[in-house]
Amino acid sequence: MQTVTKPFMEAAGKASFIRKMFEKGIELKAKYGEDAVCDFSLGNPDVPPPEAARAVLHRIADDAMKPLGLGYCPNAGIPAVRAAMAKMLTSQQKVEVGADDIVMTVGAASALVCFFRATIDAGDEVIVPSPYFVEYGNYCGHFGGVLKPVPTHEDFTLDLEAIAAAVTPKTRAILINSPNNPTGQIYSIDELRKLASLVEDVNRSRGEGGRPLYILSDEPYRAFAYDGAEVPPVLPLTRFAVVLGSFSKSLSLAGERVGYIVVSPELSKLDGGALISTLILVNRTLGYVNAPVVGQKLAAAICNETVDIGIYKRRHDLMAKVLSDAGIEFVMPRGAFYFFPKAPGGDDARFVDALLKERILAVPGSGFGRAGHIRLSCAVDEKIIARSAEGFKRAAEECR
Ligand code: PLP
Repeated sequence: MQTVTKPFMEAAGKASFIRKMFEKGIELKAKYGEDAVCDFSLGNPDVPPPEAARAVLHRIADDAMKPLGLGYCPNAGIPAVRAAMAKMLTSQQKVEVGADDIVMTVGAASALVCFFRATIDAGDEVIVPSPYFVEYGNYCGHFGGVLKPVPTHEDFTLDLEAIAAAVTPKTRAILINSPNNPTGQIYSIDELRKLASLVEDVNRSRGEGGRPLYILSDEPYRAFAYDGAEVPPVLPLTRFAVVLGSFSKSLSLAGERVGYIVVSPELSKLDGGALISTLILVNRTLGYVNAPVVGQKLAAAICNETVDIGIYKRRHDLMAKVLSDAGIEFVMPRGAFYFFPKAPGGDDARFVDALLKERILAVPGSGFGRAGHIRLSCAVDEKIIARSAEGFKRAAEECR
């Protein structure tokens, strides 16, 4: 019996690489013990939230016991939380953002889904520089959207000519993610200005009555930038910019599911405010209803803090040393907490299998739209990274 629709049967097949690693991880940990496995396959942030979260959670617990303390809230988010986000985003994005330009969402994930619901018709296209976060295709595919990956340069910077060439009348958005999962690349202000100017040109040619081309900037890793790297804000560059993010990584609140989407203030006024009011509507009708109340209150109270980024920086430097010592080539990530090195010998599936024999779990780059690489997540303790050193050397040697 076919219990689910055809696209979902196919999607389940495609996800098999990551699922295989997940299942292998469980199997190896059961057989050899948690400590004997170096699991670099998952991006679940393990660093504790900032200490300030403790007192805030106690305060939220007291509030929760009042009538409607944990009741439904406005679909766009708690007004005081939207106001706190407006303050944070005004300072971060260097543009005066109002509470009315923001919708609180169930993580960055639902912000993406809501955006695609609001802007995509079946057959519409979304350009994404590749490699890219694998869920993007699923998120826009729900509404018949087609993801069009455009390869980045060798160092994972944007290939602006290739992006320009990929735009068609059906392109609704160019989806960027900086700092990037899986490459750790951060796009420079120069690249972003050129991208914004491309979007402005396209929209001018489409005219006032046309459907706009947006820059959709997915920024859950904004706080993770190393060695003085800066993440330039996108909102000041074009009125067709929409930014989304979350506190999953920056505050280690991934399970609390709280994020936001902010529409550039000029775009927010366009077309009678249709984009923002539709985002609020679909946040409800897709069944999210509102972002979790506890998460919203917690994030708003500590949104100007982050987890200890120094911990990630030390892991980052150690992983770079482990890979260099094993003779594995990589572009040094400037942000986020992933590495996307080349697979020695060029075959990512073979290298992942060789690593498995060393009880090291990694994800093949093919799953992110770039074969010949693997993705390693540094959401693991330093001692696990250190312990993996000899295994990386042996696996690399075997595959060369
Ligand atoms: N975007 C990117 C690039 C991610 O890596 C993730 C999660 O790993 C998300 C979005 C979704 O994050 P969340 O919904 O937890 O905010």
